[in-house]
Amino acid sequence: MSSIASILLVCACACALVACHAGPLQKVGEVRGEGPKQGSSQPSTVRLIFVGDLMLDSGAGRTVAAGGDPLAFVDATLRGADYAVGNLESPIATVGRPVADKPYTFRAHPRVLRVLQGRVDAVSVANNHSGDYGHEAFSQTLLHLRSAGIAAFGGGSNLREAHAPLWIERNGLRIAVLGYNEFLPRSFEAGPTWPGVAWSEDDEVVSDIRSARLAGADVVIPFMHWGWEGESAPSERQRSQARLMIDAGAAAVVGSHPHVTQGAMLYRGRPIVWSLGNFVFDGFESEETRTGWLLQLTLDSQGVVAWRTMATHVDEAGTPRPVAEQKTPCGSRGVAEMQSCAGIGSGP
Ligand SMILES: [Zn+2]
Repeated sequence: MSSIASILLVCACACALVACHAGPLQKVGEVRGEGPKQGSSQPSTVRLIFVGDLMLDSGAGRTVAAGGDPLAFVDATLRGADYAVGNLESPIATVGRPVADKPYTFRAHPRVLRVLQGRVDAVSVANNHSGDYGHEAFSQTLLHLRSAGIAAFGGGSNLREAHAPLWIERNGLRIAVLGYNEFLPRSFEAGPTWPGVAWSEDDEVVSDIRSARLAGADVVIPFMHWGWEGESAPSERQRSQARLMIDAGAAAVVGSHPHVTQGAMLYRGRPIVWSLGNFVFDGFESEETRTGWLLQLTLDSQGVVAWRTMATHVDEAGTPRPVAEQKTPCGSRGVAEMQSCAGIGSGP
């Protein structure tokens, strides 16, 4: 084989590998050309942050329109992670109409994107509000996110895209994050030829987790939009589904939607954080609904090395502030019991 042919073959193999492991280009942090953010962890580990529901219409939308910054008080925390993921609880679009017979419909203005940039690297769109203004607004949301350099997962222009993982490649680790909704309406679900979100059918979730592992993921994390609103503990459905996902190979399970936190537990030594609650959301009065958790996972090729939660508190405009002194669940590999810690610190 000539040297040119050899080079071409090597290139072809390398490209095939990238295609196999990376999925759509916009879903890979490394492909977007970003280095680790300030304060990143050691090369063998990755520090991933999850936040709960980001609803950027209403109070947060008004704050941004007035030149304010709803993420100002959590800026350093988000930038300190290697990668940050949240649940986008509103389309970001200028088109569409509110769907009929839905009590709450949201749509954020594209100007809110600048608040996310550099802080939130990816958002799940698998939730019960992504379709509030119809297919066109949902599709426009995906375009706006892509052009802002923010990856989207848990939804797409068809069913296959909606079930594709978010691939995070950092410090030699390959992490796959999957997003699913299971709070009605189901009409927002993607189909073979139409856009929408991924619905959490058990057999499909298990198949997606196994496929991600086979495609080379060191760590797989499902990010669920599930549970009953206002309930401080997970439902039986959440419990059985979390066990199923960990048995299928998930390293941790993270949830949102109930507007409150729901505690955490270990199953087979792996953390399940049932609900992160509201992260940016206004219109709530009680202490429980104004309190959310930010989750920090320190990962290596074997899964979760350590995890910590940190309480945040939203004001009337839906702007979160850290409550670093409050003790919330945390844990470390090899420690059988869950613990409680204050703040997320800078260690593992
Ligand atoms: Zn929700």
